[in-house]
Amino acid sequence: MQSVVVLGATGSVGVNTLDVLARHRDRFRVLALTAHGNHERLLEQCLTHRPDYAVMVQADAARKLEARLQDAGLPTRVLAGTDGLATVASLEEADIVMAAIVGAAGLLPTLAAVRAGKRVLLANKEALVMCGALFMRTVQESGAELLPIDSEHNAIFQCLPTAYRPGQALSGVRSITLTASGGPFRGWAADALEDVTPEQACQHPTWSMGRKISVDSATLMNKGLELIEAGWLFGVEPHRLRVVLHPESIVHSMVEFEDSSVIAQLGQPDMRTPIASGLAWPERLDAGVDSLDPVSMGALHFEAPDREAFPCLRLAETAMTAGGGMPAVLNAANEVAVADFLAGRAGFGDIPRAVEAALEAFDGAPAGDLENTLALDAEVRAWMDGTGGRGTERETGP
Ligand code: NAD
Ligand code: MG
Repeated sequence: MQSVVVLGATGSVGVNTLDVLARHRDRFRVLALTAHGNHERLLEQCLTHRPDYAVMVQADAARKLEARLQDAGLPTRVLAGTDGLATVASLEEADIVMAAIVGAAGLLPTLAAVRAGKRVLLANKEALVMCGALFMRTVQESGAELLPIDSEHNAIFQCLPTAYRPGQALSGVRSITLTASGGPFRGWAADALEDVTPEQACQHPTWSMGRKISVDSATLMNKGLELIEAGWLFGVEPHRLRVVLHPESIVHSMVEFEDSSVIAQLGQPDMRTPIASGLAWPERLDAGVDSLDPVSMGALHFEAPDREAFPCLRLAETAMTAGGGMPAVLNAANEVAVADFLAGRAGFGDIPRAVEAALEAFDGAPAGDLENTLALDAEVRAWMDGTGGRGTERETGP
């Protein structure tokens, strides 16, 4: 029996993880669940999965959850605040930690699980984008087993030899191609994108996901973050990483080897497949996902991405090539710009403009240790919340 901690249990990846776990109660038990403020949903999940621990980041939500759990007679211990996240991520009894918090907030708890040497199922790509070198070094030092859950990276991982683990050197690989659905605005011209609404941006054609990653998919920033993620996981230089649009989202990514063989992983666009593969690897589990029927699947299409209409992909590639602290700058600026867009404070076209302004303002920012990375992240956010991200000159240096 393996004990599983689900960080970000109430989100899209968290809910899919609990769905897979519930199909295999003979093999997994839920040790801890965490959420930001949605105590109603976490309560429901606690009633179903009966974890030993539940963490709510918001203190008042934690109090409400605790009272409701007591009424229900459940012995689940409730922790509050961000410290609780790191505590459950590194519990001695934990075998597997699903890192499914969205954004930079996932960095510290994910790193806590890595430091504690767990099998870490990584959905939270922003953690790796912010401080990839430090993150991968910590994986090597702690002996943690890092398995990618992002569908593209999980696909790449499945195309590699079974004994391979992220962080190890790859041999015989010529290039890696990430597929991208292209999001809801594939084929649109730049002008037409200026006035799209958050509702339109969150209507993903093939995947059902949280709102932040849905907007990232619509701007193609998601694919840019994934390029950086792939670079760190598989140790591949930027010039060997490619992106191709594939609107059906059936081929999840491909690896080209030195002899020009290309191995791809195919499947339904359903996160339960990569989640189940990470939970059981190198064994296989029923994920509850329909079989893929090649006949009814029909034709598969591939096309080049449009970096003019979707500048976020180009900006991420620039940050990846620049290296140092620039991916962290890109990530922080993007998180603020997407939150502004979702809250109606900015337009869709403002996202790449704000990110580009931040990359210019913080040009040359060096990579640092954890403390420096968190300070840089905070500085970029403060700059975005001030004047800089909205088109005015930045006043102080990075
Ligand atoms: P989501 O918005 O649906 O859920 C996010 C979860 O994180 C929730 O449980 C929420 O309570 C928690 N959370 C939010 N802010 C927090 C904070 N400040 N502190 C602690 N917890 C917080 O997001 P999602 O779509 O499930 O995505 C989660 C992560 O997985 C993201 O990094 C995303 O890029 C990645 N990912 C998601 C998918 C997908 O299909 N949804 C696919 C690949 C990768
Ligand atoms: Mg992905």
